[in-house]
Amino acid sequence: MTSSLQCVDCAQQYPIRRVLYACESCGGLLDVQHDTSALSPAISPAFFDGRLGALAAPYNSGVWRFKELIYPGIHDSAIVSRMEGNTNLYELPRVAAFAGVDTLFLKHEGENPTGSFKDRGMTTGVTQARILGMDRVACASTGNTSASMASYAAQANMQGIIFLQNQQIALGKLAQGIAFGATCLQINADFDRNMELARLAADKLGIYLLNSINPFRLEGQKSIMFEALQQLRWQAPDWIVVPGGNLGNSSAFGKGLREMLEIGLIDRLPRLAIIQAEGANPLYRHFSTGFRQYEPVKAETIATAVKIGNPVNLQKAIRTLEWTNGVVEEVSDQQIMDAKAIIDGAGVGCEPASACSLAGTRKLVERGVIKRGDAVLGILTGHVLKDPEATIAYHGGRLPDVAPQFRNEMLQVEDNLDDIIRVLNQRRP
Ligand SMILES: *Cc1c(COP(=O)(O)O)cnc(C)c1O
Ligand SMILES: [Zn+2]
Repeated sequence: MTSSLQCVDCAQQYPIRRVLYACESCGGLLDVQHDTSALSPAISPAFFDGRLGALAAPYNSGVWRFKELIYPGIHDSAIVSRMEGNTNLYELPRVAAFAGVDTLFLKHEGENPTGSFKDRGMTTGVTQARILGMDRVACASTGNTSASMASYAAQANMQGIIFLQNQQIALGKLAQGIAFGATCLQINADFDRNMELARLAADKLGIYLLNSINPFRLEGQKSIMFEALQQLRWQAPDWIVVPGGNLGNSSAFGKGLREMLEIGLIDRLPRLAIIQAEGANPLYRHFSTGFRQYEPVKAETIATAVKIGNPVNLQKAIRTLEWTNGVVEEVSDQQIMDAKAIIDGAGVGCEPASACSLAGTRKLVERGVIKRGDAVLGILTGHVLKDPEATIAYHGGRLPDVAPQFRNEMLQVEDNLDDIIRVLNQRRP
């Protein structure tokens, strides 16, 4: 059983142990390619279902439960895991009604150990770093990648190095990177420039780069699809809706879904809808012009996790759109924050970028692309505690250009029982 790195453009292959983030002959993105033909006969829904409830590593992880499709052939002792994955699938009637569909499943990737789906990619990325004998790993980050990398680097006794943008890092994410002991460089540049700098520095210093350009990250993130489909008893929904920033998830989902179809774990492909913020919408623009011209944008949105103007995984995301007959939609900060208030108000909660999934579903239903009767699986990418400032500013009516539609205002009450009773009587359910 062999695995290799393979260029998505020219199909050139490289040994799996090469430290390579792009094709040497054409510059294309790389896939990790496993020989699944050798595996197919053994693999079935029952094979993976039999591992549910496993108490011991590695199958107690929602990533490594699918080890044969993630990184077959490696020794279990190489795996750096925090029992990531195993996230819940919610059915919330009020949220579905807001979206305008009868059936809406929300898979909450904010329930991962560091509060975002990035943990699923980091367990595979840091495992590969260990296999390669690396002692330093690095990433540029809007926040969640760095929080996750810092945690997994600490687990693996590696130095984590974080290239942080100079502004708009959500408080929870910043705190995690510092707390987990990473070397934090705050650089006077936006995410896209930081990404360039991290690549150059990693090359010069022989540091392993763990942004989603690293194809091992995407192998772990495929497991969001494996696990969701397992939770849906291997019945594909009509739509999968996901926020799009650097487009790592969108890319991983396409690859994972196709592999599931090839192996026979599912019998049809769902359609993928990628949702971008209006102020960070290069893929949306590209899609809307029939992929004729591509231009990066200068990104600006309250949803800092998708505040990316030049996504590194663009080509793989386009491939996913082709494979799944997918669509791209854009949503405003107003729509994002109102959708977030609906998810938060259901008692589940998420960070702003995650709410793109709900805001985008609603918009696609309004446009008639998604039908009321379609079964929709939306991905919530990050935890409600990641960005408390955005939540408090929304409910306080202090976000520029956002007029909160679902406001939960703080009530100021005197130290006086009559006053408290009067206020509570005014607010009966
Ligand atoms: C990283 C991240 C995204 C963007 O995902 P991509 O794979 O880069 O498109 C969206 N939401 C949250 C919470 C994230 O952390
Ligand atoms: Zn190539």
